[in-house]
Amino acid sequence: MKWKASEMTPDVKWKDITPGCNIFEGGTSCTVETGDWRTMKPVLDADKCRQCLLCAPVCPDMSIPVKNGKRGDFNYFFCKGCGICANACPFGAITMVKDEK
Ligand code: SF4
Ligand code: SF4
Repeated sequence: MKWKASEMTPDVKWKDITPGCNIFEGGTSCTVETGDWRTMKPVLDADKCRQCLLCAPVCPDMSIPVKNGKRGDFNYFFCKGCGICANACPFGAITMVKDEK
């Protein structure tokens, strides 16, 4: 039986997965493309961003990279468009827009 998210590929037969496809490990966003669920996406206005970093820790999907004390642009591979970051930003630097695919 498959227990790890990294083992859950399209080739795995249903008999080989856990009941309900439950995953019993943490940090699985690293291996699963959660971004393909998205209908809305956040867009950063770099001119308004003051690098306060309030948005980064509230993102549930590691989609706001921080390097050398500054946030980078969104990682859309993981971002599922929940809008939490946009609500957390006190400077209106993040706008949620429809994600046209
Ligand atoms: S919309 Fe949600 S998942 Fe995407 S960057 Fe913002 S907080 Fe993270
Ligand atoms: S919360 Fe807003 S101003 Fe602060 S780092 Fe994030 S986008 Fe920039």
